[in-house]
Amino acid sequence: CGIVGYVGHRPALDVVLDGLRRLEYRGYDSAGVAVLDGAGGLAVERRAGRLTNLEARLDEVGRDTFTGTAGMGHTRWATHGAPVDRNSHPHRDVTGRVAVVHNGIIENFAALRAELEADGVEMASDTDTETTAHLIARAYDDGGTRGDLAASVRAVVRRLEGAFTLVVTHAEQPDLVVAARRSSPLVVGVGEGETFVASDVSAFIEHTREAVELGQDQVVVIDRDGYTVTDFEGGEAAAKPFTVNWDL
Ligand code: GLU
Repeated sequence: CGIVGYVGHRPALDVVLDGLRRLEYRGYDSAGVAVLDGAGGLAVERRAGRLTNLEARLDEVGRDTFTGTAGMGHTRWATHGAPVDRNSHPHRDVTGRVAVVHNGIIENFAALRAELEADGVEMASDTDTETTAHLIARAYDDGGTRGDLAASVRAVVRRLEGAFTLVVTHAEQPDLVVAARRSSPLVVGVGEGETFVASDVSAFIEHTREAVELGQDQVVVIDRDGYTVTDFEGGEAAAKPFTVNWDL
């Protein structure tokens, strides 16, 4: 699928939709966006079908709640769950504060889902992805990872099996986006006062050519000023900077 995340100084919705347009060939089953408004709000819209369906939906509901400068988007290639609205990404936890987009497959999702359901969580979709939104929200509210989105994501990805790229936002953390990867592509784009994550550099190449390729089992936090990479344990990790020198 196609994934793009952004933190910067421009309206995130425009940047994310532009990026998704360039990535659309990677998934036609649905498209969705999440934008943080900086005041505790997280605006989400998603629609089955092509990106134009999502854009039509945004025209219908209005874009007034999508004013923030941090957000993310997804075009889906369905593996678990039919290509319908409710299975479209981003997926959220029950409180609606955490949103997740995902590329790949979480092999052990059935066990994670059973664990959550046993604890009273009602699933809103048939995807493997949704479990991660609930788990991250719980980690964020709990124990040693409380209030720390990157640490919460690390705690959850350590439990996941399979191949995945995850991009995560939290309504209470409007100035950052967290992403993680295992056996699935993820690149960072470093601009002036703005930073991108994407499944492919083509999503941000019109804004910056300074890119960083994440290594296997790494987590990255992006904000306006740049990025920080760790391994899944939280230890320092090195990613590979490169300059994109080809033209679109
Ligand atoms: N496995 C997830 C789903 O079916 C993500 C698929 C994708 O990579 O687009 O929703």
